[in-house]
Amino acid sequence: MIDFDVHHGNGTEEGFVPDDTLFYGSTHEKDNFPGTGKDPSPYVGDQAKTPLHRRIVNRTLPAGPASVKQFHVKWAQVVDEMALFAPDLVIISAGFDAHDEDPLASVELQEEDFKVRRALPHKHPRSSLCYSPPDSFSLCLTHHHGAASGRRKSCSRRA
Ligand SMILES: [Zn+2]
Repeated sequence: MIDFDVHHGNGTEEGFVPDDTLFYGSTHEKDNFPGTGKDPSPYVGDQAKTPLHRRIVNRTLPAGPASVKQFHVKWAQVVDEMALFAPDLVIISAGFDAHDEDPLASVELQEEDFKVRRALPHKHPRSSLCYSPPDSFSLCLTHHHGAASGRRKSCSRRA
């Protein structure tokens, strides 16, 4: 699971830590609620501090205008590490509260900054992709059959 919600997915991370078949990568605003998701290992791949830091990857963003550039740099690190993990299924925890106009955060992303999803199939073309709002319990299933065929079913969600 990769997560660009402005808040750290502490519950998701806690559930993923004990299971080494799972990957969680997140960008989130530093010191925003819930205050978890510190960034102890700013390196990916063999440069990561520990094996756990290769599959639990947190990247914090500063408040203000610098957040935009930092988001693109750090999201790319998350995606690169995820690609090394070689997942069979990619779920994107797609919270759009990092948008500049969201009053509960100080990250200043614009609509075009959220187009990062376009890079994912090229990074790992055999992955399935799924987008799900992080603050709901909906189930979202998307079947991506590879860049070659281009066949994709749309998301089905349950509220
Ligand atoms: Zn959020």
